[in-house]
Amino acid sequence: MNASLIDTLRALVGAAQVLQGEGLDAYEIDWRKRYRGRALAVVRPADAAEVAAVVRACVAAGVAIVPQGGNTGLVGGGVPDGSGQQVLLSLARLNRIREIDTDNLTLTAEAGCVLQAVQQAADEGGLLFPLSLAAEGSCTIGGNLASNAGGTQVLRYGNARELCLGLEVVTPKGELWAGLSGLRKNNTGYDLRDLFIGSEGTLGIITAATLKLFPKPAATVTALAACDSVEAAVGLLNLARARLGPGLTGFELMQAFAMSLVERHFPQLPKPLPGAAWTVLLELAGTETEEVERERLSALLELAVEREMVSDAVIAASISQSRALWHLRESIPLAQSEEGLNIKHDIALPVSAIPGFVTRMAAQLQQAAPGARVVCFGHLGDGNLHYNLQAPEGIVADEFLAAHEGHVNELVYDEVLRLGGSFSAEHGIGALKREELAQRSSPVALGMMRAIKAALDPAGLLNPGRVV
Ligand code: FAD
Repeated sequence: MNASLIDTLRALVGAAQVLQGEGLDAYEIDWRKRYRGRALAVVRPADAAEVAAVVRACVAAGVAIVPQGGNTGLVGGGVPDGSGQQVLLSLARLNRIREIDTDNLTLTAEAGCVLQAVQQAADEGGLLFPLSLAAEGSCTIGGNLASNAGGTQVLRYGNARELCLGLEVVTPKGELWAGLSGLRKNNTGYDLRDLFIGSEGTLGIITAATLKLFPKPAATVTALAACDSVEAAVGLLNLARARLGPGLTGFELMQAFAMSLVERHFPQLPKPLPGAAWTVLLELAGTETEEVERERLSALLELAVEREMVSDAVIAASISQSRALWHLRESIPLAQSEEGLNIKHDIALPVSAIPGFVTRMAAQLQQAAPGARVVCFGHLGDGNLHYNLQAPEGIVADEFLAAHEGHVNELVYDEVLRLGGSFSAEHGIGALKREELAQRSSPVALGMMRAIKAALDPAGLLNPGRVV
């Protein structure tokens, strides 16, 4: 049965694009190296018609399909299980920019386009595609939409969902839904686009998307500020919102231990504010000259120092210095990964609840897992924290996770939900948080999610074991 499916797949996409056997780690192991699977085959179609044909062939054979883009997801949603019976469908070869419409401010890209290539294409058209995250050199726009990625510009531009106007999708039956559209207004029945965005490859396979573009800011200025507490950082956020308005495009928070991991694993990087308990990265993008915008940011920071929200600050003097400051922030996930596997939480809270959460949680976790090291950083402007727990120094990460993960998750998520927050802010559910979703979502919400899944994918062959 599988042998004849493999023959069919070879006939559909070409034998060279059906990979089997050893040497497929890049597809079978996730970015964090937490999930290791084995695929029946890795199939690499070239266009949407081939994707649809592959899906039809797999469905006819009763074989499950796991869609994959850049394989940078953090919740184990895009790698096959260990059965050796799932087809890994890579979208990497669907990598064409189909169109840029500079009057309509839209760009249509195929799902396998790497995010950075989409940003570059927009830039070459004189416009901005603002989705930005540390994995942008390898994640794909299809994966970004499938996981409704957030990133560092959500404060101003919204997450992936808000940046998408239309989609082209292969359904679990292998039909092609041509939903590409550059319209800002289109109320024609249920919003199918929004159903697929954030569905993590469980409802359909995104093959292309029409994305929103924006005018490029005339100048972008970046600063780092040292704050003594999270309360002070929230005070700075309010001040920055009031003074900079929509010009405030980034507001990232980093605890001292997160920065010390960067210093440990990337000692060549600069250390602009050594000893800061909390470091904030602010970005201002405005319509005036760079000099004027830098002056605005400088005035804001001086006021924050006067009001004792900030103890020290640096403003990047050039684009390369600005990139270096962003690079420090973006190196935190890599530094964590070098330090070893951790217990990961990607949580959202009302901004007002974050200072209390951080203080209470640190105390509770020291009791629950003595010596464990909290790595706290994230997109404070969006109320989104990455609140991770690294094993105590000298303890093997796997042993630490086996002993503490269940209890630690319970403590963190109980508190998050008590405060009206979410246990999955931007990374999605995948395999990692599936049980959490089943246990902690309202039965009504779960019932609707399961009904939607059953209606679109009655055989349950699209990314099984993920989300619901
Ligand atoms: P994959 O990892 O390949 O897949 C992710 C999920 O989408 C899987 O469930 C997969 O089955 C599904 N999928 C992939 N492509 C398709 C498709 N075409 N159609 C249907 N389903 C599909 N996330 C944030 O939100 N904000 C951040 O700031 C952020 N920073 C990150 C930093 C680093 C260093 C890393 C490694 C990851 C980060 N992430 C962040 C995680 C983020 O979810 C991914 O980087 C990205 O959005 C996933 O894109 P991908 O192409 O790699 O998808």
